[in-house]
Amino acid sequence: METTRKLIRKQSLEKLYAHLSGSRKIYAPVTAANKQVDYKYNPPYAEVASDHIRSTLSVKNIVFPKVENLFLFTNNRTESTITDIELFKIPEVVLWGAHPCDTAAFDVLRSIFCWDTKDEFFSQRVEKLTVIGFACHKSDDYCFCTSTGLSPDSSKGSDILLSRLQNGDYVADIITEKGNAILDSCPGLFEAAPDEKPVITEVKVKFSHEQVTAKLANAFEHPFWIENSLRCIGCGACAYVCPTCACFDIQDETKGKNGKRYRSWDSCGFGLFTLHTSGHNPRQVQSQRWRQRIMHKFSYMPDRNESLGCVGCGRCSSGCPVDMNISEQLEALQNI
Ligand code: SF4
Ligand code: SF4
Repeated sequence: METTRKLIRKQSLEKLYAHLSGSRKIYAPVTAANKQVDYKYNPPYAEVASDHIRSTLSVKNIVFPKVENLFLFTNNRTESTITDIELFKIPEVVLWGAHPCDTAAFDVLRSIFCWDTKDEFFSQRVEKLTVIGFACHKSDDYCFCTSTGLSPDSSKGSDILLSRLQNGDYVADIITEKGNAILDSCPGLFEAAPDEKPVITEVKVKFSHEQVTAKLANAFEHPFWIENSLRCIGCGACAYVCPTCACFDIQDETKGKNGKRYRSWDSCGFGLFTLHTSGHNPRQVQSQRWRQRIMHKFSYMPDRNESLGCVGCGRCSSGCPVDMNISEQLEALQNI
């Protein structure tokens, strides 16, 4: 679909929010008392954040929940019964205020969850999702979207992309049919597009992801991994905050005869992640786990999924308790 450009005034944005929340759940960013920004369902418009650089956690929870039931079961002496999760009950949701790195991450997740077989849980949630993205007018040194082929005003993954003008009004780019349906449902809120250019932050290109991928092809045994992972404590925070990390664990939980099988987020940074029942662990030390994280995102995924496994949001670096900085490491890797 060809993109349509419109203007939406500051005061009309609140009306759009109210209009959308009349028929669907809204998942929007809110600033907590400790200044951290986190997404919540249906916050009042007055509490919605629009000036933050990045939320603490990404928005992947909306299509890949931290914990998700896969089925319920009952075990009797002679037989077991399984009850499917009623996926048709997943509600329609509008994601409001996500930045371009986070919206682009949905495509990365799709390349994983729909790679060989289609994950119905993920697919149903994506189908019920409409995304109102907000281009970035602020950034910091942790941001490196431009090194991963994106930009602070990329419309990838957005149904409507809003970009702020100097006076606080917004340019609205209507990208998809879902976006068009919103425009058609409240045309009075949108006006003719202005000539003025929106305020978009600049994000410096730090490395070439093509060069990093090429270097990784022969870097498996390089001392780089040991030298650059010595301070990693294997806490897994980098995977939990990441919009594209998709590893999960599967567990059964029972109470009496009844139980549920669920999946929950996991991390390749954990020592137990690859521990076999035999006691053997193919990734015995942290440097092997750190290498896996980088290799997966910048070598294995471009090869198998035709997608980088990173959108340059900088969350893993800003959230790391020991200041492991992924963009600095990728910049260094480019030159080994
Ligand atoms: S957040 Fe930092 S310390 Fe924790 S596993 Fe990731 S790189 Fe290692
Ligand atoms: S690896 Fe780090 S910078 Fe890349 S998408 Fe994940 S959290 Fe963001």
